[in-house]
Amino acid sequence: MYPRYIVSFDTSCMPCHEYDYLVVGSGVAGLITATLLADHGRVALLSKEELSESNTQYAQGGIAAAIGPDDSPELHYRDTIKAGAGLCSEEAVRILADEGPGYLYQLIEAGAVFDRTDGYSLTREAAHSRNRILHAKGDATGAEIERTLLCNIKRFDNITILPGIMAVDLLTDNGRCHGLIALDTSSGGMSVYTAGAIIMASGGAGQIYCRTTNPDVSTGDGAAMAFRAGARLADLEFFQFHPTALYLPRAPMFLISEAVRGEGGILRNVRGERFMPMYHQMAELAPRDIVARAIVNEMDKTGADYVYLDLRPIGTRVTDRFPTICLTCKQFGLDLTKDFIPVAPAAHYYMGGILTDTCGRSSLPGLYACGEAACTMVHGANRLASNSLLEGLVFGHRCAAAVSEESARQPLLPHLSNKVETSGGRQSVSVMDLKRLMWEAAGIIRCRQGLANAEHGLNDMPLASSAEPERGMLELVNMALLARLIVKASLKRTESRGAHFRLDYPYRSKEWQKHIVLSPEEEAEIDAN
Ligand SMILES: Cc1cc2nc3c(=O)[nH]c(=O)nc-3n(C[C@H](O)[C@H](O)[C@H](O)COP(=O)(O)OP(=O)(O)OC[C@H]3O[C@@H](n4cnc5c(N)ncnc54)[C@H](O)[C@@H]3O)c2cc1C
Repeated sequence: MYPRYIVSFDTSCMPCHEYDYLVVGSGVAGLITATLLADHGRVALLSKEELSESNTQYAQGGIAAAIGPDDSPELHYRDTIKAGAGLCSEEAVRILADEGPGYLYQLIEAGAVFDRTDGYSLTREAAHSRNRILHAKGDATGAEIERTLLCNIKRFDNITILPGIMAVDLLTDNGRCHGLIALDTSSGGMSVYTAGAIIMASGGAGQIYCRTTNPDVSTGDGAAMAFRAGARLADLEFFQFHPTALYLPRAPMFLISEAVRGEGGILRNVRGERFMPMYHQMAELAPRDIVARAIVNEMDKTGADYVYLDLRPIGTRVTDRFPTICLTCKQFGLDLTKDFIPVAPAAHYYMGGILTDTCGRSSLPGLYACGEAACTMVHGANRLASNSLLEGLVFGHRCAAAVSEESARQPLLPHLSNKVETSGGRQSVSVMDLKRLMWEAAGIIRCRQGLANAEHGLNDMPLASSAEPERGMLELVNMALLARLIVKASLKRTESRGAHFRLDYPYRSKEWQKHIVLSPEEEAEIDAN
């Protein structure tokens, strides 16, 4: 039913490059892993655009770690477990909370500069019981982490940096992944890359939805490639929607960080009424799924496409604390010391992905994954704010350790000749159709009928291409596959939990205290913990 490859190719006619390790992606997870693996062998780092283009680069609010005097890894663990709505892997959360501070200090030693007042300046975000979010240059935390890691990586002679090279499909032999085919997005040429281990750090998939905070590169390629190669994916129905992305006709869907609510920002409907205290005792600092649904409800109630964020309670401090947000809003004529910001929810973070253990091992030998592309189940059904930069850091380190240990024992496979013909199938649905379909049917509020319609609509989208390989087409085909799997898992989960809300099954069900796992060969359910 699912094609093994996305395009036709013949590896005997393609240039072949051999390395010890291939890392796909240059966000926090890929950069950490590549840097650590450089001590053990030759690394190729592939990234489909310029290196900094990633979710990491745009992360604003900060990175969570229990370093405050009133905080502890135990409290961070408990907050994460609570936000994950019964589906977090306790082992993965324990690792994240315990190992996070140590890796964070290493990042600081490597040159990352976080804001300080008296000691590190820690802020609070939704569903955190303590102030534990470090930030850099106010609201440019991801850019600071990306800058630091990019600076470091350029010092290594044995890392070959390959911007503009898009991984297209994984190569497997005898049940082991030993390389991939990739497209040079400028020349259109295809090449083969082989290695003892392939690390997928290709980030998220927000582009599947028409409203997203994610940049263009986030099209779920890693999960789609891994699935086609036979690896297991998990938790695909759990997509986190950020409650507050800028909503202006001419403006990009720019994220207005949760940290603004942590500092006192208030949500109001278009009538100017504060509404969050009616929905949750933590009001504006309730978990993201609750805030996002409350906003949708208020938008329905008032017939508007947005609500307002009122940052006046922060006072003039807002300019120093959130310089990037203030500057962006200013470009659109908004003065945050007195104007309300129109905002609406947008797809933001993917909890689902390539199923791995806590050392990045996927179910396909030779293939590892870390960061947003992976699903360690650390976030369960709903990610706690600012836990994902930390996830990239912690599980990037652990993945590199496992890879260097295991792939050293793997002899490189000979380059196998592989000739594949694919056929394109129908394509009556455009990229925008796909994104709208997913937003309407598999977005913040879902129901059986909507999901079934989406399933039907997605059947018209091709899962392979017979045309000359081209980035946009390949991304569309990857998104079409992942969209089908998201819809399938969302239909299957007949309950509401965390980020997955079904209007026809509005309550959490004990029976669904389990994860949905999909691969081309199996549809399984595995118990939580
Ligand atoms: C606007 C915004 C704000 C955020 N704010 C925060 C925050 O404050 N705190 C927090 O913890 N998290 C935040 N997040 C989430 C966080 O940024 C991400 O989850 C995290 O950075 C993911 O890191 P990563 O390395 O796994 O992936 P990414 O940083 O997304 O990197 C993925 C890389 O893979 C490359 N790639 C993708 N497909 C291919 C392919 N086929 N071939 C080659 N290369 C490929 C991409 O080009 C990119 O370089 C935010 C996200 C966004 C979008």
